[in-house]
Amino acid sequence: TLPTTYAVTPTYPRPAQKAELTRLSHLFMLLPHLHWIIVEDTNATTPLVRNLLDRAGLEKRSTLLNIKTPSEFKLKGKDPNWIKPRGVEQRNLALAWLRNHVDVDRHSIVFFMDDDNSYSTELFAEMSKIERGRVGVWPVGLVGGLMVERPLLTEDGTKVTGFNAAWRPERPFPIDMAAFAISMDLFIRNPQATFSYEVQRGYQESEILRHLTTRDQLQPLANRCTDVLVWHTRTEKTKLAAEEALLKKGQRSDG
Ligand code: UDP
Ligand code: MN
Repeated sequence: TLPTTYAVTPTYPRPAQKAELTRLSHLFMLLPHLHWIIVEDTNATTPLVRNLLDRAGLEKRSTLLNIKTPSEFKLKGKDPNWIKPRGVEQRNLALAWLRNHVDVDRHSIVFFMDDDNSYSTELFAEMSKIERGRVGVWPVGLVGGLMVERPLLTEDGTKVTGFNAAWRPERPFPIDMAAFAISMDLFIRNPQATFSYEVQRGYQESEILRHLTTRDQLQPLANRCTDVLVWHTRTEKTKLAAEEALLKKGQRSDG
């Protein structure tokens, strides 16, 4: 049997939210070894997300949490490149939940699964191969100014020697959040591993990974990192001028 994969999804209210989460929920319906941890960026869980989990039949293998991103962060660093990070508070809450609820004697996997990317079911089959104590890595499409960002491997395909990143290649781990998943025991063995507001843009992945692994310990997956099974797609901002005109007349199209 496959190890349970805990997929952690921060999500926030906006017009396309239901569409994004519906897409993801149907992926979960195809993959019974997944457990979905949704963390809403709100002061309370919402009926939209609760109903969506219900309709997909996921109530028994999902956990719904919420924590609102503070509108102002206390910055200690004086980094001019710092911008508002997304999903930090939410991912950290999920990590706290996992550390309290997961039985580490059973091998399991943690994956940070943003709500707007595009995922192949095959990606999750690859993730299941992650060994205890290791972090699996693979290519990601449409990110960092490239068609594909990917780890570079030794000739025998067993070790990561570098990365092809064009954007900030000097990062300790120049990869996207969607490019890796982690054996749960690493989070137990490294309780200090969390996400932080006080890192430069593009350094969240390095921030979490530096506590958990080293480059030469990474486990290459996806056919020696040649298959692209996840894409960093982004949904365009919904245009609602006509809806706003309706609202001024006390009407709405979705009422
Ligand atoms: N997110 C959130 N609150 C926000 C902005 C983003 O919870 O205020 C979530 C979002 O739903 C997604 C993740 O954080 O699951 C990453 O955000 P986004 O996809 O906007 O980041 P990008 O693709 O630009 O890196
Ligand atoms: Mn995104």
